[in-house]
Amino acid sequence: MHQIIVEGVATKMAIREGRALWVESQQDGILGGHYGPEDVKKIVDNAKSLGANMLLWLVKARMADTAPALWYPSEIGLSHEQCYQYDSFGDVVRMAHEAGIEVHAYFSVFTEGDIKADAVKGKKPPLAEHPEWAVVDRLGKRSEFVCASHVGYREYLGSLVKEVLEKYPVDGINLDFIRYPRSACFCDNCQRNIKDRYGLTLNQVVDLLAGKGFDSLNYEDLGAALDRIGAVINYYNQNVHETVEYIHGIVKGHSSKVKLSAAVFPNPRTAPSQVYCDWIGFAKFLDFVCPMVYWYSPEYYRQTVGRLQSAMREGTKLYPGISALGVPHPLAGKNCNFLPGAPDMKYVAELVDIAREVGAPGVAIFQYGTIFGLQPGAYTGVKWGTPVAGDVGLLRDRFAQPAIPAHAD
Ligand SMILES: [Zn+2]
Repeated sequence: MHQIIVEGVATKMAIREGRALWVESQQDGILGGHYGPEDVKKIVDNAKSLGANMLLWLVKARMADTAPALWYPSEIGLSHEQCYQYDSFGDVVRMAHEAGIEVHAYFSVFTEGDIKADAVKGKKPPLAEHPEWAVVDRLGKRSEFVCASHVGYREYLGSLVKEVLEKYPVDGINLDFIRYPRSACFCDNCQRNIKDRYGLTLNQVVDLLAGKGFDSLNYEDLGAALDRIGAVINYYNQNVHETVEYIHGIVKGHSSKVKLSAAVFPNPRTAPSQVYCDWIGFAKFLDFVCPMVYWYSPEYYRQTVGRLQSAMREGTKLYPGISALGVPHPLAGKNCNFLPGAPDMKYVAELVDIAREVGAPGVAIFQYGTIFGLQPGAYTGVKWGTPVAGDVGLLRDRFAQPAIPAHAD
Protein backbone atom coordinates (compact mmCIF):
# COMPACT_ATOMS: atom_id res chain seq x y z
CA MET A 1 0.00 0.00 0.00
CA HIS A 2 2.74 2.36 1.04
CA GLN A 3 4.64 1.58 -2.16
CA ILE A 4 1.59 2.23 -4.34
CA ILE A 5 1.13 5.66 -2.81
CA VAL A 6 4.79 6.51 -3.40
CA GLU A 7 4.56 5.41 -7.02
CA GLY A 8 1.37 7.42 -7.45
CA VAL A 9 3.17 10.51 -6.27
CA ALA A 10 6.24 9.76 -8.36
CA THR A 11 4.31 9.64 -11.63
CA LYS A 12 2.99 13.16 -11.02
CA MET A 13 6.35 14.63 -10.02
CA ALA A 14 8.01 16.86 -12.54
CA ILE A 15 11.29 15.75 -14.05
CA ARG A 16 13.93 18.22 -15.28
CA GLU A 17 13.98 18.41 -19.05
CA GLY A 18 14.03 21.35 -21.47
CA ARG A 19 11.20 21.13 -24.03
CA ALA A 20 11.41 24.19 -26.21
CA LEU A 21 9.39 25.28 -29.22
CA TRP A 22 10.59 28.05 -31.49
CA VAL A 23 7.61 30.19 -32.48
CA GLU A 24 7.46 32.22 -35.70
CA SER A 25 3.82 31.81 -36.67
CA GLN A 26 2.98 35.19 -35.12
CA GLN A 27 4.96 36.85 -37.95
CA ASP A 28 2.82 34.99 -40.49
CA GLY A 29 -0.28 36.08 -38.60
CA ILE A 30 0.73 39.72 -38.31
CA LEU A 31 1.77 39.89 -41.97
CA GLY A 32 -1.56 38.23 -42.85
CA GLY A 33 -3.27 41.23 -41.33
CA HIS A 34 -5.13 39.69 -38.41
CA TYR A 35 -3.51 38.97 -35.10
CA GLY A 36 -5.02 39.13 -31.66
CA PRO A 37 -5.07 37.69 -28.13
CA GLU A 38 -7.04 34.63 -29.25
CA ASP A 39 -4.17 33.67 -31.60
CA VAL A 40 -1.61 33.97 -28.83
CA LYS A 41 -3.83 32.01 -26.44
CA LYS A 42 -4.12 29.18 -28.93
CA ILE A 43 -0.33 28.86 -29.11
CA VAL A 44 -0.01 28.79 -25.34
CA ASP A 45 -2.86 26.25 -25.02
CA ASN A 46 -1.33 24.01 -27.68
CA ALA A 47 2.13 24.21 -26.11
CA LYS A 48 0.64 23.37 -22.72
CA SER A 49 -1.31 20.38 -24.06
CA LEU A 50 1.85 19.13 -25.77
CA GLY A 51 3.87 19.23 -22.56
CA ALA A 52 6.33 21.87 -23.77
CA ASN A 53 7.81 24.09 -21.08
CA MET A 54 9.52 26.85 -23.08
CA LEU A 55 8.60 29.11 -25.98
CA LEU A 56 11.44 30.73 -27.92
CA TRP A 57 9.40 33.60 -29.36
CA LEU A 58 10.79 35.59 -32.27
CA VAL A 59 11.16 39.30 -31.53
CA LYS A 60 13.88 40.17 -34.09
CA ALA A 61 13.53 38.62 -37.51
CA ARG A 62 16.21 36.85 -39.56
CA MET A 63 15.55 38.31 -43.01
CA ALA A 64 13.19 41.21 -43.00
CA ASP A 65 12.51 41.43 -46.71
CA THR A 66 8.85 41.06 -45.80
CA ALA A 67 8.82 43.74 -43.12
CA PRO A 68 10.83 45.67 -40.54
CA ALA A 69 12.88 43.52 -38.22
CA LEU A 70 11.39 43.95 -34.73
CA TRP A 71 8.17 42.31 -33.56
CA TYR A 72 7.45 44.04 -30.29
CA PRO A 73 6.66 47.74 -29.88
CA SER A 74 10.18 49.10 -29.58
CA GLU A 75 10.95 52.71 -28.75
CA ILE A 76 14.50 52.22 -30.04
CA GLY A 77 14.39 50.24 -33.28
CA LEU A 78 12.14 49.73 -36.28
CA SER A 79 9.19 47.51 -35.34
CA HIS A 80 6.35 46.28 -37.46
CA GLU A 81 3.58 48.90 -37.32
CA GLN A 82 1.01 46.36 -36.11
CA CYS A 83 3.00 45.77 -32.93
CA TYR A 84 2.06 49.27 -31.74
CA GLN A 85 -1.64 48.35 -32.08
CA TYR A 86 -1.41 44.96 -30.41
CA ASP A 87 1.61 43.76 -28.39
CA SER A 88 1.49 39.99 -28.90
CA PHE A 89 4.81 39.59 -27.14
CA GLY A 90 3.50 41.17 -23.96
CA ASP A 91 0.49 38.88 -24.12
CA VAL A 92 2.45 35.68 -24.68
CA VAL A 93 4.72 36.40 -21.73
CA ARG A 94 1.68 36.88 -19.50
CA MET A 95 -0.37 33.95 -20.81
CA ALA A 96 2.54 31.50 -20.95
CA HIS A 97 3.55 32.31 -17.39
CA GLU A 98 -0.02 31.67 -16.25
CA ALA A 99 0.30 28.27 -17.93
CA GLY A 100 3.66 27.55 -16.28
CA ILE A 101 5.62 27.93 -19.52
CA GLU A 102 8.83 29.96 -19.87
CA VAL A 103 9.21 32.59 -22.59
CA HIS A 104 12.59 33.43 -24.09
CA ALA A 105 12.84 36.39 -26.47
CA TYR A 106 14.41 35.02 -29.65
CA PHE A 107 16.67 37.47 -31.50
CA SER A 108 18.13 36.88 -34.95
CA VAL A 109 21.23 38.80 -34.04
CA PHE A 110 23.26 39.84 -37.06
CA THR A 111 20.55 39.88 -39.73
CA GLU A 112 18.91 43.18 -40.54
CA GLY A 113 17.13 42.74 -43.82
CA ASP A 114 15.48 45.22 -46.07
CA ILE A 115 17.44 48.45 -46.16
CA LYS A 116 14.53 50.02 -48.10
CA ALA A 117 11.85 49.19 -45.50
CA ASP A 118 9.59 52.14 -44.68
CA ALA A 119 10.33 54.13 -41.59
CA VAL A 120 7.91 53.56 -38.70
CA LYS A 121 7.54 56.24 -36.03
CA GLY A 122 10.57 57.97 -37.46
CA LYS A 123 12.78 54.87 -37.12
CA LYS A 124 14.68 53.75 -40.18
CA PRO A 125 16.29 50.34 -40.82
CA PRO A 126 19.67 50.25 -39.02
CA LEU A 127 21.54 49.51 -42.26
CA ALA A 128 19.93 52.57 -43.90
CA GLU A 129 21.27 54.72 -41.06
CA HIS A 130 24.59 52.86 -40.89
CA PRO A 131 25.50 51.34 -44.26
CA GLU A 132 29.06 50.94 -42.95
CA TRP A 133 27.87 48.18 -40.58
CA ALA A 134 27.02 45.70 -43.36
CA VAL A 135 29.08 42.61 -44.13
CA VAL A 136 30.79 43.28 -47.47
CA ASP A 137 31.92 40.42 -49.70
CA ARG A 138 35.17 40.27 -51.72
CA LEU A 139 33.54 42.07 -54.64
CA GLY A 140 32.31 44.91 -52.47
CA LYS A 141 28.67 43.81 -52.34
CA ARG A 142 26.86 44.62 -49.08
CA SER A 143 24.81 41.86 -47.46
CA GLU A 144 21.84 41.86 -45.08
CA PHE A 145 24.15 40.70 -42.32
CA VAL A 146 25.84 43.15 -40.01
CA CYS A 147 29.55 42.62 -39.38
CA ALA A 148 30.22 41.67 -35.76
CA SER A 149 33.25 44.00 -35.63
CA HIS A 150 31.09 47.11 -35.25
CA VAL A 151 30.91 48.21 -31.64
CA GLY A 152 28.14 50.68 -32.51
CA TYR A 153 25.92 47.84 -33.69
CA ARG A 154 26.79 45.80 -30.63
CA GLU A 155 25.57 48.68 -28.49
CA TYR A 156 22.38 48.97 -30.55
CA LEU A 157 21.72 45.25 -29.98
CA GLY A 158 22.44 45.68 -26.31
CA SER A 159 19.93 48.51 -26.09
CA LEU A 160 17.24 46.28 -27.64
CA VAL A 161 18.02 43.43 -25.24
CA LYS A 162 17.89 45.87 -22.34
CA GLU A 163 14.58 47.29 -23.57
CA VAL A 164 13.04 43.78 -23.76
CA LEU A 165 14.34 42.89 -20.30
CA GLU A 166 12.99 46.08 -18.76
CA LYS A 167 9.64 45.92 -20.53
CA TYR A 168 8.79 42.22 -20.17
CA PRO A 169 9.42 39.68 -17.37
CA VAL A 170 11.03 37.21 -19.80
CA ASP A 171 12.81 34.06 -18.68
CA GLY A 172 15.62 34.45 -21.16
CA ILE A 173 17.17 35.79 -24.33
CA ASN A 174 17.76 33.31 -27.17
CA LEU A 175 20.31 34.30 -29.83
CA ASP A 176 20.10 33.05 -33.41
CA PHE A 177 22.24 34.13 -36.39
CA ILE A 178 25.02 34.76 -33.95
CA ARG A 179 27.54 34.37 -36.75
CA TYR A 180 28.73 35.67 -40.11
CA PRO A 181 27.09 34.65 -43.39
CA ARG A 182 28.94 31.92 -45.28
CA SER A 183 31.53 34.49 -46.26
CA ALA A 184 34.36 36.50 -44.77
CA CYS A 185 33.74 40.22 -44.33
CA PHE A 186 35.70 42.95 -46.09
CA CYS A 187 33.96 46.00 -44.66
CA ASP A 188 36.26 48.99 -44.06
CA ASN A 189 36.61 47.99 -40.42
CA CYS A 190 37.68 44.44 -41.23
CA GLN A 191 40.06 45.44 -44.03
CA ARG A 192 41.76 47.94 -41.72
CA ASN A 193 41.93 45.57 -38.73
CA ILE A 194 43.28 42.68 -40.77
CA LYS A 195 45.90 44.90 -42.45
CA ASP A 196 47.00 46.48 -39.15
CA ARG A 197 47.14 43.26 -37.15
CA TYR A 198 48.24 40.61 -39.65
CA GLY A 199 49.65 42.63 -42.57
CA LEU A 200 47.22 41.11 -45.06
CA THR A 201 45.32 42.77 -47.90
CA LEU A 202 41.84 41.82 -49.11
CA ASN A 203 43.24 39.87 -52.06
CA GLN A 204 45.69 37.99 -49.86
CA VAL A 205 42.89 37.00 -47.47
CA VAL A 206 40.70 35.85 -50.36
CA ASP A 207 43.54 33.71 -51.76
CA LEU A 208 44.42 32.28 -48.36
CA LEU A 209 40.83 31.33 -47.53
CA ALA A 210 40.52 29.66 -50.95
CA GLY A 211 43.79 27.78 -50.41
CA LYS A 212 45.12 29.25 -53.65
CA GLY A 213 48.55 27.89 -54.59
CA PHE A 214 48.75 25.69 -51.48
CA ASP A 215 49.43 22.55 -53.52
CA SER A 216 52.80 23.97 -54.64
CA LEU A 217 54.03 24.97 -51.13
CA ASN A 218 56.52 22.97 -49.07
CA TYR A 219 55.44 21.97 -45.57
CA GLU A 220 57.15 24.91 -43.87
CA ASP A 221 55.58 27.52 -46.14
CA LEU A 222 52.25 25.73 -45.91
CA GLY A 223 52.48 25.92 -42.12
CA ALA A 224 53.03 29.69 -42.28
CA ALA A 225 50.09 30.08 -44.69
CA LEU A 226 47.84 28.07 -42.38
CA ASP A 227 48.90 30.24 -39.44
CA ARG A 228 47.91 33.34 -41.43
CA ILE A 229 44.50 31.79 -42.16
CA GLY A 230 44.16 30.82 -38.52
CA ALA A 231 44.70 34.44 -37.46
CA VAL A 232 42.07 35.74 -39.88
CA ILE A 233 39.53 33.07 -38.91
CA ASN A 234 40.17 33.80 -35.26
CA TYR A 235 39.64 37.53 -35.88
CA TYR A 236 36.10 36.99 -37.17
CA ASN A 237 35.33 34.46 -34.40
CA GLN A 238 36.56 36.91 -31.79
CA ASN A 239 34.15 39.59 -33.05
CA VAL A 240 31.24 37.19 -32.52
CA HIS A 241 32.63 36.04 -29.16
CA GLU A 242 32.86 39.61 -27.88
CA THR A 243 29.27 40.28 -28.93
CA VAL A 244 28.02 37.27 -26.93
CA GLU A 245 30.13 38.35 -23.96
CA TYR A 246 28.68 41.86 -24.19
CA ILE A 247 25.08 40.62 -24.32
CA HIS A 248 25.81 38.23 -21.47
CA GLY A 249 26.92 41.21 -19.37
CA ILE A 250 23.67 43.02 -20.10
CA VAL A 251 21.46 40.00 -19.40
CA LYS A 252 23.15 39.01 -16.16
CA GLY A 253 23.51 42.64 -15.13
CA HIS A 254 19.74 42.86 -15.33
CA SER A 255 19.15 39.66 -13.34
CA SER A 256 21.11 36.47 -12.74
CA LYS A 257 17.79 34.63 -13.05
CA VAL A 258 17.38 35.53 -16.73
CA LYS A 259 18.93 32.89 -18.99
CA LEU A 260 21.03 33.43 -22.08
CA SER A 261 21.01 30.83 -24.85
CA ALA A 262 21.88 30.45 -28.53
CA ALA A 263 20.96 28.47 -31.63
CA VAL A 264 24.10 27.39 -33.48
CA PHE A 265 25.31 25.27 -36.38
CA PRO A 266 25.58 21.67 -35.18
CA ASN A 267 29.14 20.86 -36.21
CA PRO A 268 31.58 22.50 -33.79
CA ARG A 269 34.52 21.56 -36.03
CA THR A 270 33.31 23.47 -39.06
CA ALA A 271 31.20 26.29 -37.55
CA PRO A 272 34.26 28.41 -36.59
CA SER A 273 35.77 28.26 -40.09
CA GLN A 274 32.57 28.38 -42.17
CA VAL A 275 30.48 30.98 -40.34
CA TYR A 276 32.94 32.17 -37.65
CA CYS A 277 30.81 30.84 -34.83
CA ASP A 278 33.06 29.21 -32.21
CA TRP A 279 30.19 28.33 -29.94
CA ILE A 280 32.12 25.82 -27.86
CA GLY A 281 34.31 28.84 -27.04
CA PHE A 282 31.44 31.14 -26.05
CA ALA A 283 29.28 28.45 -24.41
CA LYS A 284 30.62 29.68 -21.06
CA PHE A 285 28.30 32.68 -21.48
CA LEU A 286 25.25 30.49 -22.17
CA ASP A 287 22.83 28.74 -19.82
CA PHE A 288 21.77 26.48 -22.66
CA VAL A 289 22.69 25.96 -26.28
CA CYS A 290 20.60 24.58 -29.14
CA PRO A 291 22.71 23.18 -32.00
CA MET A 292 20.38 23.01 -35.01
CA VAL A 293 20.87 19.33 -35.79
CA TYR A 294 18.35 19.56 -38.60
CA TRP A 295 17.47 16.85 -41.11
CA TYR A 296 20.14 14.48 -39.75
CA SER A 297 19.45 10.77 -40.10
CA PRO A 298 18.63 9.16 -36.73
CA GLU A 299 22.06 7.46 -36.74
CA TYR A 300 23.95 10.67 -37.46
CA TYR A 301 21.79 12.56 -34.95
CA ARG A 302 22.73 10.01 -32.30
CA GLN A 303 26.44 10.29 -33.11
CA THR A 304 26.41 14.10 -33.27
CA VAL A 305 24.32 14.77 -30.17
CA GLY A 306 26.28 12.15 -28.21
CA ARG A 307 29.55 13.90 -29.07
CA LEU A 308 28.17 17.33 -28.29
CA GLN A 309 26.82 16.17 -24.95
CA SER A 310 30.25 14.87 -23.94
CA ALA A 311 31.82 18.22 -24.95
CA MET A 312 29.48 20.37 -22.83
CA ARG A 313 30.75 22.21 -19.80
CA GLU A 314 28.88 22.02 -16.54
CA GLY A 315 26.47 24.92 -16.34
CA THR A 316 25.52 24.96 -20.03
CA LYS A 317 22.68 22.62 -20.93
CA LEU A 318 22.47 21.05 -24.36
CA TYR A 319 19.02 21.16 -25.96
CA PRO A 320 19.66 19.81 -29.46
CA GLY A 321 17.41 21.19 -32.17
CA ILE A 322 15.04 18.92 -34.09
CA SER A 323 13.70 19.91 -37.51
CA ALA A 324 9.94 19.43 -37.56
CA LEU A 325 9.81 20.64 -41.14
CA GLY A 326 7.77 18.99 -43.85
CA VAL A 327 10.39 19.44 -46.56
CA PRO A 328 13.49 17.33 -47.30
CA HIS A 329 17.09 18.53 -46.98
CA PRO A 330 18.80 19.35 -50.31
CA LEU A 331 21.09 16.32 -49.76
CA ALA A 332 18.22 13.94 -48.96
CA GLY A 333 18.82 10.64 -50.74
CA LYS A 334 22.33 11.72 -51.81
CA ASN A 335 24.18 11.63 -48.51
CA CYS A 336 23.58 9.05 -45.79
CA ASN A 337 24.03 11.60 -42.98
CA PHE A 338 20.70 13.17 -43.90
CA LEU A 339 17.18 11.82 -43.67
CA PRO A 340 16.28 10.42 -47.12
CA GLY A 341 12.89 12.22 -47.23
CA ALA A 342 10.97 14.93 -45.43
CA PRO A 343 10.76 14.69 -41.63
CA ASP A 344 7.47 13.45 -40.19
CA MET A 345 6.13 13.25 -36.66
CA LYS A 346 7.52 9.74 -36.20
CA TYR A 347 10.98 11.09 -36.97
CA VAL A 348 10.55 14.02 -34.56
CA ALA A 349 9.45 11.66 -31.77
CA GLU A 350 12.32 9.25 -32.49
CA LEU A 351 14.87 12.05 -32.17
CA VAL A 352 13.41 13.01 -28.79
CA ASP A 353 14.06 9.40 -27.71
CA ILE A 354 17.61 9.49 -29.09
CA ALA A 355 18.43 12.81 -27.42
CA ARG A 356 17.36 11.28 -24.10
CA GLU A 357 19.31 8.08 -24.71
CA VAL A 358 22.57 9.97 -25.25
CA GLY A 359 22.01 12.08 -22.15
CA ALA A 360 20.91 15.46 -23.53
CA PRO A 361 18.83 17.25 -20.86
CA GLY A 362 16.22 18.49 -23.34
CA VAL A 363 15.34 19.29 -26.93
CA ALA A 364 14.32 22.36 -28.96
CA ILE A 365 11.86 21.83 -31.78
CA PHE A 366 11.67 23.96 -34.91
CA GLN A 367 8.94 25.01 -35.04
CA TYR A 368 5.56 25.43 -33.38
CA GLY A 369 3.54 26.04 -36.58
CA THR A 370 4.77 22.95 -38.43
CA ILE A 371 3.91 20.51 -35.64
CA PHE A 372 0.45 22.02 -35.21
CA GLY A 373 -0.39 21.90 -38.90
CA LEU A 374 -0.28 25.62 -39.70
CA GLN A 375 0.33 26.42 -43.36
CA PRO A 376 3.46 28.33 -44.42
CA GLY A 377 2.96 32.08 -44.28
CA ALA A 378 4.65 35.19 -45.58
CA TYR A 379 7.38 34.99 -42.98
CA THR A 380 8.03 31.24 -42.55
CA GLY A 381 7.72 30.38 -46.26
CA VAL A 382 7.70 26.84 -47.66
CA LYS A 383 11.13 25.79 -46.37
CA TRP A 384 10.58 26.74 -42.74
CA GLY A 385 6.79 26.61 -42.58
CA THR A 386 5.63 23.38 -44.25
CA PRO A 387 3.85 21.18 -41.67
CA VAL A 388 5.23 17.73 -40.84
CA ALA A 389 2.96 14.81 -41.62
CA GLY A 390 1.64 12.61 -38.84
CA ASP A 391 0.06 12.82 -35.44
CA VAL A 392 1.31 15.35 -32.91
CA GLY A 393 0.11 12.82 -30.31
CA LEU A 394 3.37 10.91 -30.86
CA LEU A 395 5.21 13.89 -29.44
CA ARG A 396 2.63 14.47 -26.72
CA ASP A 397 3.20 10.88 -25.55
CA ARG A 398 6.93 11.60 -25.16
CA PHE A 399 6.15 14.65 -23.06
CA ALA A 400 3.38 13.09 -20.94
CA GLN A 401 5.33 13.35 -17.71
CA PRO A 402 5.45 16.97 -16.53
CA ALA A 403 8.88 18.59 -16.69
CA ILE A 404 10.54 21.79 -15.60
CA PRO A 405 13.44 22.98 -17.81
CA ALA A 406 16.78 21.42 -16.92
CA HIS A 407 18.36 24.88 -16.61
CA ALA A 408 15.82 26.05 -14.01
CA ASP A 409 17.32 27.44 -10.77
ZN1 LIG B 1 33.51 43.49 -41.35
